[in-house]
Amino acid sequence: MKPQVIKTNYHTHTYLCKHAIGEASDYVKRAVELHYNVIAITDHGPFTEELAQIVHSRRMSLEAYQTMYLPSLQQAKQLFHQEIEVLSGVEIEYLHALDGLYPMFLKDMDLLILGQHYIVDDDGTYKSVYDRLTARQIEIYADTIVEALQTGMFAILAHPEIYAWDKVVFDDDCKKAAEKIIDAAVKHHVVLEINANGIRNAIHFDKLLDGGQDFPYPRRAFWKMAKAKGAKVIINDDAHAPNRIQDQYTLQAYQLAAEEGIEWLDDVDIQSFYSKRDE
Ligand SMILES: [Zn+2]
Ligand SMILES: [Zn+2]
Repeated sequence: MKPQVIKTNYHTHTYLCKHAIGEASDYVKRAVELHYNVIAITDHGPFTEELAQIVHSRRMSLEAYQTMYLPSLQQAKQLFHQEIEVLSGVEIEYLHALDGLYPMFLKDMDLLILGQHYIVDDDGTYKSVYDRLTARQIEIYADTIVEALQTGMFAILAHPEIYAWDKVVFDDDCKKAAEKIIDAAVKHHVVLEINANGIRNAIHFDKLLDGGQDFPYPRRAFWKMAKAKGAKVIINDDAHAPNRIQDQYTLQAYQLAAEEGIEWLDDVDIQSFYSKRDE
């Protein structure tokens, strides 16, 4: 089994999203203590004001993004550049309502992580992935991810199997979606994320998934498919507090990946991913 020497984390939130604690520099400090090589600060990106009024999600405002988030990332980079590589980014959905913001995000920061917490249903309404998706909505989720990955804007796909969090069995609809998502990730060189937060939050879920062997995410059935298809995989904390970086749940995520025989990446080559995009 591969030794679990953890040197990176690409999924880190800050207090600005209103459901996490700590400043960017607090997370960087913790990563330095742990002798990491890379930490990416990737808080939930802001919505447009219009979308924020429709979808009530706790995240930073556009104004906070400009006046607080970006300066805090610059400051963390400057303060710690001798000790660690600090990458700036956001975790953000792919929604056409946000099409006007992506160029700004890409210009301002090093990377975008796709975290698809909402889909647009057939009737045009927004639906949270936590609202228990129907088979048709799972299909929409998968098709949205495929479209998003084609754009080349997203280097990492966070918790790709979140659509199945409440499904007691990872059934054929779940597998069909997994297949589409994994194939798109492989085709467009996007790294799939094993997300430790699903293990951290598993205590809040009431069901035994796949006979009690599984978490809401990471979901073993999904990762078996990802392995078979040769997808690139990274394991991230999805830390919403500085002390969650490499906590027992992160270690459990590494353990799960090791048990499944997954060869995860130690780091993600962000520069080459985005330089391919420019070509
Ligand atoms: Zn969050
Ligand atoms: Zn997320």
